[in-house]
Amino acid sequence: MSRISQLKKYRYYWWKTGNMHPKAKWEEADLPYELAKDVPFDTYVKQTDKYNIHGFWEWENGTVRVIELPSSFHETCISGIVRQINRQLGAVEGTNADIFNYGATTTKSRGSGKEADASFRPVSKPQVNRGGSDGNSQPWPNLVVEVAYSQEEAVVRNKIEDYWLRAGRAHDAILIKIEPPTAPNVIPEFMTAKHYCINNRTATGALQPIVYDFSTTDDQGNPTNLQPGQRVINIQHACLYHGVPANILNPPPPPPPQPNAPLQPNPAPQPNPASQPNPVANLPNPIIIDLYLVQYQIINCIV
Ligand SMILES: [Zn+2]
Repeated sequence: MSRISQLKKYRYYWWKTGNMHPKAKWEEADLPYELAKDVPFDTYVKQTDKYNIHGFWEWENGTVRVIELPSSFHETCISGIVRQINRQLGAVEGTNADIFNYGATTTKSRGSGKEADASFRPVSKPQVNRGGSDGNSQPWPNLVVEVAYSQEEAVVRNKIEDYWLRAGRAHDAILIKIEPPTAPNVIPEFMTAKHYCINNRTATGALQPIVYDFSTTDDQGNPTNLQPGQRVINIQHACLYHGVPANILNPPPPPPPQPNAPLQPNPAPQPNPASQPNPVANLPNPIIIDLYLVQYQIINCIV
């Protein structure tokens, strides 16, 4: 058997068993990698649930592709974002203003099935008539997080721009690109974040993400010594609660900042006329993601 077909066989093992075969040499695979063909969508969903593969494969018109490989850098980067958001959402936990992390729940749209690395949706976002995130009535998440380590940034960028942020779907997306080092299990140095909001566009209507570099070294190889609070992504309530009925958000969130406008200080919380204080008023606005903390997890996750 040729080396190529040997590798193909060992790599197929991941699809069949949910485990990566030690002889599959996944670190040499070009992503996206075609893992299995002629797979019905329901089989894909069953298989990914059974083996808990979410975020590494995707399904398109019957073909399953590997889009990312498991790594501690990829996983701790996701958790470094998720725990910050969850911590700040504490005041609404267990209320009708709660925002759930759906993690890598599979979404479906016509011929494709995709998962984000993390996805946040208000519990009170209503059902839709058609074209929901499950292909039927489930609303789409308002915020999705995608982390690319082994995969190319351009592939994830397309996924965000042409899938997650299509009209009627998510409002904001965060794309983290961690540059893989020259050898595996070496701590990465270069990392960037892009924050997309569907309201933030160029004059011609193209999505215009805000870009943050949170690398540990600069182009000359000098340490950047990133400090807490120095590179921070701001996510407005208006984005996080997009599509939620106004009566749940009393007082209503302030409008999102206009693209290219100077940053305004946060308005003071308005007094709530209802006898029960609205838990949303106790949330920080914006919800922030401090990239220092994300970097801290990435660079300290292996010892
Ligand atoms: Zn937004």
